[in-house]
Amino acid sequence: MMVSRLVIKVGTSTLTDGTARLSRRRMLELAQQIVKLHEERVEVVLVTSGAIAAGRERFGKMHRPISKSVPVKQMLAAVGQTHLMLAWEQVFDMFDVMVGQVLLTRADLSDRRRYLNARDTLSTILAHQTIPVINENDAVGTDEIRVGDNDNLSALVANVLRADMLIILTDQDGLFTADPRAHPEATLVSEVPALDDSIWALAGASRSGLGTGGMTTKLQAVDLATRSGITVVIANGTKPGVISDAAHGISVGTRFLPVVTNMEGRKRWILAERTSGSVIVDNGAAQAVLDGKSLLPVGVRNVIDDFDRGEIIAVCDITGRDIAHGITRYGSSDARRIAGRKSSEIESILGFEYAAMLIHTDDMVVLHPATAL
Ligand code: GLU
Repeated sequence: MMVSRLVIKVGTSTLTDGTARLSRRRMLELAQQIVKLHEERVEVVLVTSGAIAAGRERFGKMHRPISKSVPVKQMLAAVGQTHLMLAWEQVFDMFDVMVGQVLLTRADLSDRRRYLNARDTLSTILAHQTIPVINENDAVGTDEIRVGDNDNLSALVANVLRADMLIILTDQDGLFTADPRAHPEATLVSEVPALDDSIWALAGASRSGLGTGGMTTKLQAVDLATRSGITVVIANGTKPGVISDAAHGISVGTRFLPVVTNMEGRKRWILAERTSGSVIVDNGAAQAVLDGKSLLPVGVRNVIDDFDRGEIIAVCDITGRDIAHGITRYGSSDARRIAGRKSSEIESILGFEYAAMLIHTDDMVVLHPATAL
């Protein structure tokens, strides 16, 4: 099995090789592996830690003592992020692959409109054969808006992008039956079909090196991702060929199987939400939606109630029957202005265009697929 969209999270301990500075050599090795997949047409998103560590490295050089307060850490992240990004850009440049930096907070991934914006930006970066390089926006993050660790951030990103796999690279080989540092007889768990209490117990309080997360935040990420239909591999970032092995389904580290399919996860999510409004569509558009196509504004007859971009709305046929639910790309007032009009007219009517469709087929669940009109 080959993946088509992959999120790779690299932890600080891997990037620094356990030292107090970024390891360019390690970054080059990882970039080389990522570029190989990129050449195989796999879409790869990189979530990178290491900003704070890079900031420390910079300050360390100047031998300036620094405190450990939160604003100081944020300052270190601000200094280190550009340094980290420059290093990634340099290593990817060697392969003529472009990277684009995206700094996110929890709010960008939970607020509906911002969620769509983040997703559209990331998908567009990928569509331009460029690798999004993501980190948390540590310099501005407060507790309320922070994800807090890149393990969970990477799972949120994988979910937003509906990746089929998340690879978490760390300084350990995976999940062990006991802490291998205290119990040399511990063995690696190669596959976990479902996260249960016994697996959570294995995570214990293990912490690794310089990063924020121990095994616990990794399992939280696994939980979130596998419930959205994403396979997760936790493996050692220093193992040669680790990314390629994981992506090609070769046994490496610990593989956590998704508990639902990608499709089921998305359907559940869309169907669990209350609709904020609806659109009445003509017969042609209704048939297109039932056939699994996107809903274009041209087929929309009427827009009912007020809703925002990113909210879930119902698609109704002319008899008023709900035929689908989906995430709308346009709020109700914009939707009213483009209803019945061609997609090519959207920009001249609104002055901007988010997308050619009102609801993308990927964001829609058809309620009565078997019923013909
Ligand atoms: N965002 C932090 C950094 O780049 C790391 C968070 C984590 O390691 O989980 O320094």
